[in-house]
Amino acid sequence: MAVERTFVMIKPDGVMRNLAGKVIGRFEQAGFKIVGLRMAKPTKEQVEGFYPSSDDWFGKIGEKTKHRYNQLGIDGKAVFGTNNNITIGKMVKKWLISYISSSPVVLMVLEGNNAAEKTRKMVGNTDPINADTGTIRGDFTLESVDWANSDKRAVMNIVHASGDSAEAKEEIAYWFKPAELFDYENAFDIIINKLGDA
Ligand code: ADP
Ligand code: MG
Repeated sequence: MAVERTFVMIKPDGVMRNLAGKVIGRFEQAGFKIVGLRMAKPTKEQVEGFYPSSDDWFGKIGEKTKHRYNQLGIDGKAVFGTNNNITIGKMVKKWLISYISSSPVVLMVLEGNNAAEKTRKMVGNTDPINADTGTIRGDFTLESVDWANSDKRAVMNIVHASGDSAEAKEEIAYWFKPAELFDYENAFDIIINKLGDA
């Protein structure tokens, strides 16, 4: 058992499509406790600082993108003008900065058992066309990496969730002050305590 906290953001497309309540509801239904929640319109600088800027991260983004192009039999070079993973990752980050800073987002911290791993499962694959039905990205959009890239924009995939527990700690601290996070007992805690003592 590892009760922990993770960070989730409803991206501008999710808010603009009136999906905030549905997305939050899915996490509540799964048993997550909302311990932090607010709306913000991130500045370009805030988004720049939020997503990593390491060659390692750029490279991974480029690699995942090229993997999808290979599946589709599309030449990535024709789209990006390069086959270099890091250069592709840097281009994606630029698009990401304009996307996330374009309109308000909902920021939240969720607490629960294996929170980082479970929220990622609920969010689904980065590329929504490859996200399983039943996941947020799989159920609420037909968006795909190749479609987004052909328009030179970021993949509008409704929601962000921290990749793992370590990333969650950093991302929570990036968006929330300690005083904006709350400790309280919810119905799940009460049921578990009551039945656990029975
Ligand atoms: P995730 O959000 O699933 O953790 P990443 O951390 O790899 O995915 O990427 C961050 C975000 O960058 C994605 O959610 C998506 O909005 C955008 N993105 C990733 N790869 C691409 C791509 N090839 N083209 C456009 N946008 C992308
Ligand atoms: Mg990520």
